[in-house]
Amino acid sequence: MQKKTIKDVDIAGKTVFIRVDFNVPIKNGVIEDDTRIKGALPTIKYAVEQGAKVILASHLGRPLKDKKKAEEKGLPYDAGKYTLKPVAEKLSEYLGAAVAFEQDGNIGSLISAMNNGDVVMHENLRLDAGEEKNDPDFAKQLADGIDVYVNDAFGTAHRSHASTEGITHFVDTCVAGLLMEKELEFLGKALENPDRPFVAILGGAKVSDKIPVIESLIERKVDKLLIGGAMAYTFFKAQGFTVGKSLVEDDMMPKALEIEQQAKDAGVEFILPTDHQVVDSYDPINSRKAIQIEFTNTGLVGLDIGPETIEIFKQALEGAKTIVWNGPMGMFEEKPFDEGTIAIANAVAEATEKGATSIVGGGDSVAAINQAGLADKISHISTGGGATLEFLSGDTLPGVAALNNR
Ligand code: AMP
Repeated sequence: MQKKTIKDVDIAGKTVFIRVDFNVPIKNGVIEDDTRIKGALPTIKYAVEQGAKVILASHLGRPLKDKKKAEEKGLPYDAGKYTLKPVAEKLSEYLGAAVAFEQDGNIGSLISAMNNGDVVMHENLRLDAGEEKNDPDFAKQLADGIDVYVNDAFGTAHRSHASTEGITHFVDTCVAGLLMEKELEFLGKALENPDRPFVAILGGAKVSDKIPVIESLIERKVDKLLIGGAMAYTFFKAQGFTVGKSLVEDDMMPKALEIEQQAKDAGVEFILPTDHQVVDSYDPINSRKAIQIEFTNTGLVGLDIGPETIEIFKQALEGAKTIVWNGPMGMFEEKPFDEGTIAIANAVAEATEKGATSIVGGGDSVAAINQAGLADKISHISTGGGATLEFLSGDTLPGVAALNNR
């Protein structure tokens, strides 16, 4: 670990700004999933125990963008959806202590009234246009009176925003939080020095989003690359198969062929599905059947990998020592097209039990792991979607680059 962490610096009695990821789903003021709040607790508790004055800040959704969209379309805008107040309340419960929450810009007075061990929370950072613009004035305002900056929000570290990058120009001591440290350790090892065999599984709808990560994995000579989800159809169509009404990114077909060639040249086993679950687009409920890829006809839509592919993917995972998985194997939100994704979730968990280090990232694959009750059987569930992919693509994340080196 190249970056300093909160444990490398003295924070007792210091004013510590922790950028957390409290971007949680909230409906009618009720938090529907508090995984991210729980994920931030180790760093917050550590800072409190050390006697720091703890200031927390996060974004929640995209208030200004949503407001603009609503105005353009003449739709109502619900400002109540974007306050972090329910999160401050939930956090008070978890910490067993009051968390003072910014209201009407009173953060300055809250901070000046703090004692060691107190926790104060900013309102949603993205309510200020300066956050996403990385406006230096806003960054300077956030940094006012701060001794130590801690970034514990890996999921937004790929963005150069005021609270992830700008602020670091105004604070001398900038370090990683404990959740960030865990992300950097697991993902860094997979990127730089993975135990082998190293198997990557990629799925989801869009190849275009995943090209940099596929290329980086091939460059780093992942041993096997398994491709599932609608992404596979762009490869199939590029090879000349008929893929019916399945999702394809036509403009990505030349790139798909190039990637297959790159994999071949690098000696990477590139494994595409051999069968899939298809439906007739006119009768999706009753027409589900598993067929070989080559028999797809023009009226069918492929929505999941088939049983033969599940077996092939399972076998490919046997004996793996490092597994990275990002993206569902099919349209997993709709039962029974979650079967492929759930089967892969189980296979990854099994391989982990047999000694593999498994890393699962991206909202959908993580949701599948949780749905299957396998979260504690995975070595590392990454909190990042885009950030995880960018990191594994070999890109330097601005929010990480800005932290002090050891
Ligand atoms: P992505 O954002 O590219 O990771 O794609 C995730 C989405 O891909 C999920 O909402 C899935 O429902 C969708 N998806 C995966 N496979 C398929 C498929 N075969 N057909 C339609 N949608 C799919």
